[in-house]
Amino acid sequence: KKQQLKGIISFKPVTQDGKEMELSANISSLKELNVALNSGANGVGLFRTEFLYMDRSRLPREEEQVEVYRSVAEKLHPKPLIIRTLDIGGDKQLDYFELPEEDNPFLGYRAIRICLDKTDLFKTQLRAILRASHCGNVKIMYPLISSVDEVRAANKLLQACKDELRAEGVPFSEEIEVGIMIELPAAVVIADMLAEEVDFFSIGTNDLIQFTLAVDRMNEQISHLYEPFHPSVLRMIKLTVEAAKRKGVHVGVCGEMAGDLKALPIWLALDVDELSMSAHSILPVKERLLALRQQEARKLFDRLLTCSTSAEIHALLELKPSEEQ
Ligand code: PEP
Ligand code: MG
Repeated sequence: KKQQLKGIISFKPVTQDGKEMELSANISSLKELNVALNSGANGVGLFRTEFLYMDRSRLPREEEQVEVYRSVAEKLHPKPLIIRTLDIGGDKQLDYFELPEEDNPFLGYRAIRICLDKTDLFKTQLRAILRASHCGNVKIMYPLISSVDEVRAANKLLQACKDELRAEGVPFSEEIEVGIMIELPAAVVIADMLAEEVDFFSIGTNDLIQFTLAVDRMNEQISHLYEPFHPSVLRMIKLTVEAAKRKGVHVGVCGEMAGDLKALPIWLALDVDELSMSAHSILPVKERLLALRQQEARKLFDRLLTCSTSAEIHALLELKPSEEQ
């Protein structure tokens, strides 16, 4: 089977009826980059930068970050590299960084909220990303966005970093694209407004499911309630993609659902532009994509929208025996 999948590495990811889909990789370390490249990834749709900050005794300096971002950007060039800014807090803690004790850390001081508060920390990362943008096709992505104000505040700091670098004579890409993760219900509901502020969306289904269903994604006691194919999640996704399409904003998916074979007809029906997933999912997803038709996915999706339970949705999305892994 593995051998058979290798045969499709160089194939264009396109359905029977011509719908192309960018299949990209999520990486959270340098090691994973090679796996991504060996799977024929279109690029990196989510570079989780937390590893740079974890398992150490102090914040990574600008220079250290530039080196990492630049080496990834160069290896990928001209393929795109979406670097997500720091997403700590919640489940991810830093030893050297005093985070307050919180009753609800997942709803607390984390991700873009920390970055907009500790602006020195954020600007160090933004400067490093900008400097790497000179050496490849780099894009910036902000996590856990809940409002237009947050996007504007982050972009204002980005602008300040650009002004600094320009004054210092340090090269960077002036046209660097900026996107946000859509992973909070609030962001879904104002997706049309958020789209006015950015170049692209990436739907973070892991958090979007957690926050839509109010189910802690780490809590095993309620893991049966963590349901990607819940009718509400389907509607959240639909609202987001439709808003993006109306506004002409590139839209991808980078949560675990992007690599789920069962979910593929959903992305096809909505005409999602990009799926970013762990590298080992890319070839299986491509294999199924090559066999599907967007027209049929659309018909199936119309039926999914009438389902009032996740069991019905699962039943409709069940893989045919010939498609089982
Ligand atoms: C997500 O929330 O779907 C996501 C991709 O980000 P993370 O899993 O790092 O929170
Ligand atoms: Mg997330």
